[in-house]
Amino acid sequence: MTDQLISLNNLTKKYMNKEALNGIDLVLNRPGLVGLVGPNGSGKSTVLKMIAGLLRPSGGTVHVLNQKPDRRISRKVAYLSEVDSLYGYQRVEEAVTFFDTVFTDFSPKKAKEMLHELEIHLNDKIKNLSKGNRARVKLALTLARDVPILLLDEPLSGLDPLVREESLNLIIRYTDIERQLTFLSTHEVAEVEPFLDHIVFIKNGRVLLSENVESLRELKGKSVVEMMREVLS
Ligand code: ADP
Ligand code: MG
Repeated sequence: MTDQLISLNNLTKKYMNKEALNGIDLVLNRPGLVGLVGPNGSGKSTVLKMIAGLLRPSGGTVHVLNQKPDRRISRKVAYLSEVDSLYGYQRVEEAVTFFDTVFTDFSPKKAKEMLHELEIHLNDKIKNLSKGNRARVKLALTLARDVPILLLDEPLSGLDPLVREESLNLIIRYTDIERQLTFLSTHEVAEVEPFLDHIVFIKNGRVLLSENVESLRELKGKSVVEMMREVLS
């Protein structure tokens, strides 16, 4: 069997009577940085949660690393949710230790290196950190895992421009584009586009386009931002 990283086949998801995903077909078989781009409510978080094994499909199939994901897929897939998931009562160092206990692939050394660069002190209480710093800690902990797939749900959203740039920088420097597939969702493509290898546009729970960014630029002679305006409008 060929190595499948992520494969979604006619995937649908209904919440009560709300159709969030309307038949998603998507195959991602190469490592690199992949953008999941679409407006609010288009289904980005739902797609990532399905890949993370946190939600069950209403129809269709999800395969991640050749298996149907359930919660145990978290051993191989790092998932950064859009909600604040750290424990406020912990110190940063305890959060690092916590991740180390939960995930065998976690590198405390790498996490501490990132935190040091970000000038976040291990002694600080999570609840006393600014929103930006909490987001950075969460991101550093996720990026310190050595896994084939990372799912980052809007890692830049709600942060001020400097923190966004720094966070993006961290993602680029601490993921291995040769070995890891980093699937990152955003509703603002402009700042990530220069770094994306592949882009997936989603709207109303449907994939409108899934394309290698370089061939997009070459074939269509358009920037991804221009493409997005066309595809999503
Ligand atoms: P995005 O992340 O792109 O903003 P979501 O995947 O969060 O989109 O949501 C897709 C659609 O499903 C939206 O219309 C949203 O309101 C709806 N939705 C998401 N989660 C739930 C839920 N738990 N219950 C009901 N509807 C939901
Ligand atoms: Mg979302």
